[in-house]
Order: sequence, then C-alpha cells, then structure tokens
Amino acid sequence: MIVYDMPLWRPPSEGPNLIIQATLGCSFNACTFCSMYKIKDYATRPLSDIFADIEDAAKDWPDATRVFLADGDALAAPSDDLEQILDKLIASFPDLQRVTCYATPQNLTKKSVDELRRLREKRLSMVYLGIESGADSMLKRIRKGSSKLMKNAMLAADEAGIKISATVILGLGGKALWREHIEGTAALINDIAPKFLSTLQLDLESGQEPRFREAFAKVDGTEFEWQDDVGILQELEYLLELLEPTRGVIFRSNHASNALALAGNLPRDSEGLLAQVRAAQNNTDVLRPQYLRGL
Ligand code: SF4
Repeated sequence: MIVYDMPLWRPPSEGPNLIIQATLGCSFNACTFCSMYKIKDYATRPLSDIFADIEDAAKDWPDATRVFLADGDALAAPSDDLEQILDKLIASFPDLQRVTCYATPQNLTKKSVDELRRLREKRLSMVYLGIESGADSMLKRIRKGSSKLMKNAMLAADEAGIKISATVILGLGGKALWREHIEGTAALINDIAPKFLSTLQLDLESGQEPRFREAFAKVDGTEFEWQDDVGILQELEYLLELLEPTRGVIFRSNHASNALALAGNLPRDSEGLLAQVRAAQNNTDVLRPQYLRGL
C-alpha cells in the first residue's frame, strides 16, 4: 500500500483515480492566497521511490485507467523523469487512458513544445492550471505572473495537444477590483478557450490573510475588502455575460468553495447559466450554506 507524504491535494474530479506523488510540495509556492504547501518543501522524488509506489498500486489496482501525478506541480519535474514515470505507468497499467497533474504557468513555459508533446504522446493528456485571474493588476497582487505568461502557458499546452483545465478565483479582487478582475479573466478565456474552466471562491486561512492583504495593498494602496454572496453572484453574472470563447469550454462552478453550483458548456449554455445566477440573486436560499463551503 502506498504511504503518501501528507498533505496530499488533488482536484475534486480526480477523487476516484489513482494518485502517484511524482514531486512533493510546490516548486513556486509564492501565490499570496495559497497555504497548501506552506509546511512542505518542494522536492522531486527519487524515481526508484516513485516506481515502487507504481508497482505497489499495480498489485492493488491493476485495472486503473486514470492516474493523477501529485503534488502541487508535478510538471516541474525534469521532462526526462516524467517520461520515465509515464513509461512505467503505461507498462504497469494495461488499461491506462490518461494521466493528469497540476501545472504552473512557469512549468509549461519552461518546457519546449517538443518536450510537452513527448509527454502528451505518453498519455499526459491534461493539466490543471490555476490562472486565478486574467487581469495583470490582479496577477501582480497575488504574485502569480502576468496575463501574457498565462496565455503563453496555455498556448504551449495547446500546441502540444495537452488539454487545460483552468481555474479562476471569484472574490479575488475584493469589492474594489472585482470588475477589472472579471474583465481581464474573460478576455484571457475568450482569447485561449481552455477545454475546461472552473471557478473557486476565495477562502484564506487565517495565517495567510495578512500576507494576502499586504501584497494586495502594496501595488497601489488599494485595501482588500471581502466580497459577500451578493458580490460573488455579481462577479459570476458578469463573467458569464462576457465569456464568448471561440471554441467550446466546459464550465463548472461546482467546487465546494462556491456559493452556487453551475455546470454547462460555453457559449452554448450561457443564457441558461445566467438565468440560474439571476434566480439565485433573487432567492439566496438556493446558495450552499457557509458551513458546507470549503477548499
Ligand atoms: S502554484 Fe498552486 S500550489 Fe503553488 S503556491 Fe500557487 S496556488 Fe499554491
């Protein structure tokens, strides 16, 4: 049985799938809202340890079809290592259909398209990319790069045939900057159109909030003020109004952090999704209770 190095995080949709830790922690570990790996240093695991986990898992679960490579950005591992890990997975699981992992924009832009393509050929078919916002003013505040970096990262994945599952964080701009947060985000998504787009809702651990606030205000003195549910629904409505991707995007706001769970395809279902948001604005009883929300 695999003994995982905790904490172990994975996207909700990977819950039923096999998880193999290729790296530990996050190689970036600087986003001001994130406390996921504050107690864990980044490290690549020895291939021999990873292979031992794969062999263990193959005994317990020989017909596994989907594998998620943890931790926070397994794509940070050297491409050579990743190719060997993917080869080992293919050899160990005859029914393997897909491998996925989290990626940072830096991971995707540091590798060449040829490197990414080779990983794709070995069944790394999708990466989860937290873009969080498409507005440069927001990305600067959360220390996550720029919209150009996000765009280049998504373009590189696209060129290599790797699907992107992108997440954005509602509430990130607070009451003062929500409009520019949403406008920048919609512009980026309309430009690149990732295969999947999900929203999360901002939640900060108490120890993280002062750091987030400080970095937020440092840019131009704007103070962060939390959005309430009314504000979050306004953001969701505005985002859906502005989203006009050039190709189909599967949209979800069903992560447990969200006040309102939505699911549909854009642009096809835009009107239906907007109708659900507007109905919730008129009857907030349909929102997920606060005590059931979490990351
Ligand atoms: S890249 Fe992801 S895991 Fe790493 S600090 Fe940022 S949000 Fe957290």
